[in-house]
Amino acid sequence: MLKIAVQKSGRLYDHSLHLLNECGIELNNGNRQLKAGALDYPLEAYFLRDDDIPQYVYDGVADVGIAGENVVFEKKRELQILSKLGFGRCRLSIAVPKAMSYTSCQDLNGLKIATSYSNLLQKFLDENNINAEIHEISGSVEIAPGIGLAEAICDLVSSGSTLVTNGLKEVEIILRSEAVLVGRDNLSGEKQSILSNLLMRIEAVKTARHNKYIMLNAPNDQLKEIASILPGMKSPTIVPLAESGWSSVQSVVNENDFWSIIEKLKSLKAEGIIVMPIEKMIL
Ligand code: ATP
Ligand code: MG
Repeated sequence: MLKIAVQKSGRLYDHSLHLLNECGIELNNGNRQLKAGALDYPLEAYFLRDDDIPQYVYDGVADVGIAGENVVFEKKRELQILSKLGFGRCRLSIAVPKAMSYTSCQDLNGLKIATSYSNLLQKFLDENNINAEIHEISGSVEIAPGIGLAEAICDLVSSGSTLVTNGLKEVEIILRSEAVLVGRDNLSGEKQSILSNLLMRIEAVKTARHNKYIMLNAPNDQLKEIASILPGMKSPTIVPLAESGWSSVQSVVNENDFWSIIEKLKSLKAEGIIVMPIEKMIL
């Protein structure tokens, strides 16, 4: 069995379980135990605090784990990033009181900065030759300046609304982070083959997320040009319609190009454009 560490509650919990679900792995975690087996896959999940996950994987208690890069890098354990998972996106930023004048990171010299990420902050300060004092606290970092504990903070930000509420402004981004699957490199042969299968499934889910299935009707005299902007997995599928002079075209489109392709298709007289999500995509 492959043992996977997952955050027991919090921001990564739902996304982690959802990802495993999309990979066809359902955890038997009805009443939120600390450990749960999968229904029809050789995998067992341990539910832990996110900060502990890198250490548990490093020690071999779990074989792989899902955690934010912010935690993985802060803990400085030698782990491999096996896959970036595309959720739990946030940034680790330095923020100062709104009224403080700030022109460059040199303005942080001499300040006391509260954070739960002292290693990552120290690295940033060293790289920029800044002499500031780090005050490590484990939570509620954003209130530190308001209660006179520090003059600045270094904390996770996603929308930034918590900073605004606390009268702070974001001045430096020191890390951009998302959830990742981490592991060690000395797994047994059997575990390694379960992991390879799991990674194949994760990649299939991720690829599908970034692509859409598209169907449309096109006049035959535009087919050549339409086919040239719709690459598909090999080439688009083109099937003649019952109405003469028209064909149905089916293809797969990457989300980054999606809207520009739709514009071009419309100018090429495509009609009845239908776009569908793809569940899995194995290349
Ligand atoms: P635990 O009890 O497991 O220690 P926690 O309170 O430390 O939980 P959460 O707030 O649940 O952690 O966040 C877990 C992870 O979600 C973070 O480490 C980070 O990778 C990610 N994340 C995404 N957006 C944010 C955000 N705005 N604030 C905090 N974490 C975020
Ligand atoms: Mg935590």
